[in-house]
Amino acid sequence: MSTANLLRSEYGWKLSGAFNETHLAVLLLAAQDLSAFAEAQAPGSGEIWMRRRLAPVHFHLGGLPQWVVTRVAAHAMSVVFPRRDVWLNKNFLTLPNPRHHIVHELAHVLDNRLGPKTLPAAIFGGGPADRLAREMGGAPRGMRYSNGACGIPPVNRWAESAGGGYGNHASAEYFAETLAWAVYYPSNLPNPTMMNWLKANVFYR
Ligand SMILES: [Zn+2]
Repeated sequence: MSTANLLRSEYGWKLSGAFNETHLAVLLLAAQDLSAFAEAQAPGSGEIWMRRRLAPVHFHLGGLPQWVVTRVAAHAMSVVFPRRDVWLNKNFLTLPNPRHHIVHELAHVLDNRLGPKTLPAAIFGGGPADRLAREMGGAPRGMRYSNGACGIPPVNRWAESAGGGYGNHASAEYFAETLAWAVYYPSNLPNPTMMNWLKANVFYR
């Protein structure tokens, strides 16, 4: 079975754009990493969790929303818009950890999926990212992709060594970085209780 078919049949992920075999391999590895993590949080239900929370997801390589955010930010960005479409930066393979990047973007999808049915939580709030920011001592308001550290005390903010402290940039990013570092390098989490928080608030059955 081709990697694209495997992503579709195993995970319910759809692809649009000129993905090559390396792109697809990274998507598959990220899916397997996250599935294994979900399995460790709730033994026996990792795969079910993936299907229930992260299917369907539609990945695009480039595309208009990605072009727009890249122009606005003045550097290459990926974006989730409106709810479960991931518009990947075409050069995501050149990032320091492309798999981390995929799991980070999936966290935004998850925020939307577990948030209100009306407006996307990764933009307007109301999802698990807001709850995590509050749990860590903050008060998220405004546009969740650009609302800063939200008053989260310095002790619970990201160190420079954790991806340049990108998670301090906004409450949606704080949550996305929490999931990605929990999967790939939990020692980078600013607060070890984040692991249990994820287990209770994101990886429940
Ligand atoms: Zn993000």
